[in-house]
Amino acid sequence: MKIEENKELKALNTFGIEAKAKNYVRIDSFEDAQAFFKQKEYEEPILILGGGSNILLTEDFNGTVINNHIKGIEGIEENDKSITLKVGAGENWHEFVLHCIEQGYAGIENLSLIPGKVGASPMQNIGAYGVEVKEVITEVECLRLADAEKMIFTNEECQFDYRSSIFKTTHKGQYFITSVSFKLNKKPTFKVSYGAIQAQLLANGVDQDHLSIKAISDAVIQIRQSKLPDPKEIGNSGSFFKNPIVSKEKFLSLKKRFKDMPAYELPQGGYKLAAGWLIEKAGWKGYTERNYGVHKKQALVLVNYGGASGNEIYNLSERILQSIIQKFGVELEREVNVV
Ligand SMILES: Cc1cc2nc3c(=O)[nH]c(=O)nc-3n(C[C@H](O)[C@H](O)[C@H](O)COP(=O)(O)OP(=O)(O)OC[C@H]3O[C@@H](n4cnc5c(N)ncnc54)[C@H](O)[C@@H]3O)c2cc1C
Repeated sequence: MKIEENKELKALNTFGIEAKAKNYVRIDSFEDAQAFFKQKEYEEPILILGGGSNILLTEDFNGTVINNHIKGIEGIEENDKSITLKVGAGENWHEFVLHCIEQGYAGIENLSLIPGKVGASPMQNIGAYGVEVKEVITEVECLRLADAEKMIFTNEECQFDYRSSIFKTTHKGQYFITSVSFKLNKKPTFKVSYGAIQAQLLANGVDQDHLSIKAISDAVIQIRQSKLPDPKEIGNSGSFFKNPIVSKEKFLSLKKRFKDMPAYELPQGGYKLAAGWLIEKAGWKGYTERNYGVHKKQALVLVNYGGASGNEIYNLSERILQSIIQKFGVELEREVNVV
């Protein structure tokens, strides 16, 4: 493995932030990864990078960036109803989704067009349009950074939650994910309860009798392309904040003041509010300063129109966060990993 020095990271993060890594290494196989972590001949700290679509770089990285390129899709269990696939952490997520659709394997079609790599999917339990990846993950294979031991975490052990898992909480920074296993259905149950999906299917002329995982994927792709900025054109990391969860009392007092406030009652108690709605209501939608700001169509997405620094974007996120506390008494949490 070749360690590159002074590596430019602009093309490796979807925010398009200009930053350099003191050292950079690309890892292509489990064996290479194990040898690399065993030999410990790298400079710390380390930053594990997938597709760079959920990070905000606020400065040059004064350590080693390790970019995961471990590929491969392998069937490990199959019967009439389902198939379990073990997928290299360096596979592109959306290409994997398309592969499953082509093969007729259902379960992740609603997660079409999410940027990034398979290895990051369990990190924050990626989710969209009524589906979370925790519903299909059976296990996550990792290397423990401390001793390069191979470790397997079952679905339960990952403690998946809304945009969270042990890899983002208790075990943060301790593991290098090498592969993820997914159990997919050969007999699909379609998840189309989201109004936007129903409307798009209708517009595409797809009725109940012609519903398919391909039709759902196509609809999700169309919706996402119409309202989210393409990182190839405008730098961004998708939703910058998580949707906040508040108590029933808090929800009721807000609902009295803001009659049109959307909210979702959680089965375990509490209410999930729409962070994008709060930010828009506070007047931030479309806000632009110099060459960065808040996206015109989606207030939850902070954007870099070119040349903004990570610190400028971070400071804007802090101002938004404070204004939401002031206006609604609700504290937003960043979804993006700030480095
Ligand atoms: C336009 C856009 C839309 C998006 N829409 C959604 C959405 O609908 N739903 C959603 O959930 N997310 C969404 N995201 C966020 C992002 O795409 C996902 O979180 C994705 O899973 C990140 O993958 P990545 O490979 O780019 O991770 P990176 O950004 O490279 O890394 C993210 C974090 O995971 C860690 N990490 C990455 N790979 C590994 C590994 N192999 N082992 C250990 N740690 C690792 C990194 O250190 C970092 O902390 C969106 C982003 C964009 C730009």
